[in-house]
Amino acid sequence: HLSKRLETVSEHVERGSRLADIGSDHAYLPIYLAKNKIIPYGVVGEVAKGPLSNAVSEIKKEKLLSVLQPRLADGLAAIEPGDNITAITIAGMGGNLITHILESGKEKLKGNEKLILQPNVGEPIVRKWLMVNGYQIKAEQILVDDSHTYEIITAIKASQKMAYSPNELMFGSLLLKEKSPVFKAKWREEIGQRQRVIANMQKASHTDIQKIQRIKVEIKTINEVIK
Ligand code: SAM
Repeated sequence: HLSKRLETVSEHVERGSRLADIGSDHAYLPIYLAKNKIIPYGVVGEVAKGPLSNAVSEIKKEKLLSVLQPRLADGLAAIEPGDNITAITIAGMGGNLITHILESGKEKLKGNEKLILQPNVGEPIVRKWLMVNGYQIKAEQILVDDSHTYEIITAIKASQKMAYSPNELMFGSLLLKEKSPVFKAKWREEIGQRQRVIANMQKASHTDIQKIQRIKVEIKTINEVIK
């Protein structure tokens, strides 16, 4: 049984995709996709031995070793040319780590892979990387699972470089258009966090005026977006 978070990620993997799931841990996502015959082939990449052996035993238990290839590798190094990967999932990590994995594995990207990314935090960094590297964001989703809010960002290589505005990078161009109740709740929460940061700074007579000012501008921006 998949979490709502991973189930939602799985919905972005098109039938017939040759998948690389990077940082797979127990391999729950690729196992689900293989069991449901959505993917005919998957690479299960893990940088750490413990999680990889979890993945191997789960894959064996499900008798899916002919479909799923577990590999001990750092990031996109798990991908080999013969894999002909058409979709890459990277889920459940910070945006910094996801961006680092993409950046340091760039030479593995042929440009025909759909990227399906689920950062736990730091979504703007991921969007910025996608923009700078010539990707177009095709779908974005925001959901609550187990009282956490998660965003899913999918992208493909664009024929023309996209120019996302600072607000589009911060909030997500598509989420910004939609402004769903979950989106608004997330950003109301983000305002509360920023207000607490300012209050604490003032209590500690930490008078980094510029920083306080910067946070106040962010609060104003968020308020304008969700009003
Ligand atoms: N993707 C799964 C999910 O969304 O539930 C597992 C997420 S788990 C929190 C993150 C996993 O990424 C860990 O098992 C960790 O070992 C792995 N990881 C971290 N850095 C990695 C890297 N550079 N390459 C491959 N795997 C990595």
